[in-house]
Amino acid sequence: MVVFSEDHNQETRCRGRIEVICGSMFSGKTEELIRRMKRAKFARQRVEIFKPAIDTRYSEEDVVSHDNNIIKSTPIDSSASILLFSSEIDVVGIDEAQFFDEGLVYVCNELANRGVRVIIAGLDMDFKGIPFGPIPALCAIADEVTKVHAICVKCGDLAYISHRTVDNDKRVLLGETTEYEPLCRCCYQKALKEESKNKQ
Ligand code: ZN
Repeated sequence: MVVFSEDHNQETRCRGRIEVICGSMFSGKTEELIRRMKRAKFARQRVEIFKPAIDTRYSEEDVVSHDNNIIKSTPIDSSASILLFSSEIDVVGIDEAQFFDEGLVYVCNELANRGVRVIIAGLDMDFKGIPFGPIPALCAIADEVTKVHAICVKCGDLAYISHRTVDNDKRVLLGETTEYEPLCRCCYQKALKEESKNKQ
């Protein structure tokens, strides 16, 4: 009789996978990323978070979520660098992924194929509702996608978009509560009508 050891199955199982956490601003994306990373770290897995060098709202070296939940991270200029810095890492976290180049899709696939668990957090859409950077493609190749929501500041329903409250057309405008507000689809449409009326 041949008895297969369950432990052996466990060891040889491929752990590589891609998880995407996406949503609007103030939806808790970074908090969810950090929660998953901390849990892996607690299990003595080697973890590392990368973020685009463009995101310098807070300190250079740390991923800081809005509730000051700090985990160390490495700012990098291009997605290709993630492969260079990821040897010997079990779980790779990527924050503000929408600001990375499209090469991030290849990088994440490559890491997952090597057995790395990749957890990506990023904005699903820009302030006009257009899918942001490599996020749509990452959602397509992911093993698991979690869409998180903020709360609409006008009516309390689940928010759908980060509405920009200042008149600036630049796609990348980093800021906090003063420049953006989470709105549901209905309140966003009302806000757009209001704005076009004010411009006339
Ligand atoms: Zn609303």
